[in-house]
Amino acid sequence: MSAEEPLIADLFEVDKRLTLKPVVDFNTYLRNAFGDGVCRCHRCVELNGDESSYSHRHTFEFDGRPMHRRFANTAGSDVLQALKKAWLSYTKNDLPLLGQLDLNTLRTFTETNLHERLLALLPASGLAREVDGTWVLQAQAD
Ligand SMILES: [Zn+2]
Repeated sequence: MSAEEPLIADLFEVDKRLTLKPVVDFNTYLRNAFGDGVCRCHRCVELNGDESSYSHRHTFEFDGRPMHRRFANTAGSDVLQALKKAWLSYTKNDLPLLGQLDLNTLRTFTETNLHERLLALLPASGLAREVDGTWVLQAQAD
């Protein structure tokens, strides 16, 4: 589906900025950031899925189904690239790269059914972490 196609949702008063391509791409990115089933990476197989020693989780549960993070395209820098484009497109401002992440704004252009994935991917990718109820962006090494 391209961003130019009229959406059924347009029958309602929706935020037209949600159809901007970088915003649509960001939502697609979130949807594809996880694959079906538990993580089968070497480490998870060896530890029989025991993630207690991990600093970042590999396996998640969304809508009652186990899903694993796709490592190949979900490094913090990958998430940041997708997020930066969507943020600029939606807010007309550059994403502040350090300090507090405005999660409320981020939620407004993330589909509701993807909020859970967003909140899982931010810390799992190392892009941001929650400190006393606020989300803080972390500098990316690459
Ligand atoms: Zn794993």
